Amino acid sequence: MEEQEETVQIYVASLDKTVTFPVRSSEPCKRCKGTGLKSKKPCPHCCGSGSVKMLDCIRCNGTKQIENGVKCNVCKGKGILSEALTNEFLEARQFCENFQKKPAKTILIGLACLVALGICAYFVSGFAFVDIRMLQSWYVYIGLIVGFTAGFYILTRLKKMHTGSYLPASTKFAISSAVVALGIAAIAIPGPVAGRYHWMESEAKEIISEALAEDNLSCQSVKVSSHDGNDYHGIAKISDGDEIKIIIHYRKVEETRREIGYSIEVEPVE
Ligand SMILES: [Zn+2]
Ligand SMILES: [Zn+2]
Repeated sequence: MEEQEETVQIYVASLDKTVTFPVRSSEPCKRCKGTGLKSKKPCPHCCGSGSVKMLDCIRCNGTKQIENGVKCNVCKGKGILSEALTNEFLEARQFCENFQKKPAKTILIGLACLVALGICAYFVSGFAFVDIRMLQSWYVYIGLIVGFTAGFYILTRLKKMHTGSYLPASTKFAISSAVVALGIAAIAIPGPVAGRYHWMESEAKEIISEALAEDNLSCQSVKVSSHDGNDYHGIAKISDGDEIKIIIHYRKVEETRREIGYSIEVEPVE
């Protein structure tokens, strides 16, 4: 009897059909020790079968090279690709095809992620630069989770672009560099550069307004320009048009393990 050739069936979304791939070689999966299970879920390395099956590379059809004799970047010139990596490539390819058809959605979500990164960086910086322990509050945790999610969205889309796009490697590198530079700017400018004093400014504004309430005045804004240690130097704008130079003294006071104690005093500078 003729030996049956082993195959795997993979659904290819762009063709909208299941394609049969002959298995070129297979070996027991080392990650799950051939059990097909990892943390009670199908092992992602071997697609839950317990053995890693190598297929002809779906990008170069096993020829090891793509257009103009360039080495295939998907199989790294080996001509074969595991079932799991084949699935990963197909998913990334699908992302790129969808992006070419409808780029607006991904671009808008990407921009929203950059804005979210900026807001989170602004928020978190305002606390982190005063006292690192102030980060132990639930709204900072939420800010960090939102920020990491936004960053994760951008990075995973870049990875899909790298895996699934047919653009030249240099173009892909340029796109990634530009997006990463935008991401760094979106974090740094509203965050450490412009946002490091915002918490102190809003606290000081409230304190000054309270002190001026008797005279029917209020503080419109506080701008801190520098600090040495726990003393913050800045200018307060008063509702009657005056601008006052101030020093904000931030002091740690007795605290419990769960709560941070502090006091803030604002002093006008003659
Ligand atoms: Zn496995
Ligand atoms: Zn290949």
